[in-house]
Amino acid sequence: MKRTVLVLFCGIIAAYSAFVVKKDIVPALNSSMVFPSSRFCIIDAGHGGFDGGAVAFDGTLEKDLNLQMAKKLNDILILNGYQTVMIRQEDISVEEAGDTHKKKGDIRKRFKIAETYPDALFISIHQNSYKQSNSEGTQVFYGSKNPKSLLLAEAVQDAVKNGLQIKNRRTTKKAGNNLYLLSHMENVSIMVECGFISNKNELAKLKDEEYQQKLMLRVFEGIEKYYEREGMCSG
Ligand SMILES: [Zn+2]
Repeated sequence: MKRTVLVLFCGIIAAYSAFVVKKDIVPALNSSMVFPSSRFCIIDAGHGGFDGGAVAFDGTLEKDLNLQMAKKLNDILILNGYQTVMIRQEDISVEEAGDTHKKKGDIRKRFKIAETYPDALFISIHQNSYKQSNSEGTQVFYGSKNPKSLLLAEAVQDAVKNGLQIKNRRTTKKAGNNLYLLSHMENVSIMVECGFISNKNELAKLKDEEYQQKLMLRVFEGIEKYYEREGMCSG
């Protein structure tokens, strides 16, 4: 009898430890309990905390727009029965305590989260900036390791163009070595450069909550198209 109790106790401790360890490695998994789905996205709000990303002429920081949009995309996905993981849900960088090089540690942690969920699509949200202030329009970069990343990028780029930016002539672009995450991970991965915060008119749109919602709905539409073409149904 005593042994049974001990085994049970150890079992509980082991299960609890597994949960704690996993929770320490990755952020909480969000999912709709009503429609458990095989459609699964990691949403990476670019930059955060000490790393503001690009800065607009009016002081707007890229990291803040990235997070606002990432949260909107997360809500849309959850409402549609997706499982999601958000790399960050507030204005923080995600390096481990004790990482001496914060930026490297931050990238390492994002990479580790992607590795933890190899079947999830990795969707990174960023804003662009360029010295020519008339540059505008969404552009989607795709991961170079998994050939399916191109299909996802094409689906998202088309959905944004057709649904929101009919004059956008930009095409998808393969991630170079300068984009560490996309050029190293095995996940199907894209980085959505939502628009140029160096363009006054586009910045006004990118800061507008309604426009952010419209843009993220188009990104979602692209993700849906990708899954449809891959023949994966939810549920
Ligand atoms: Zn960025």
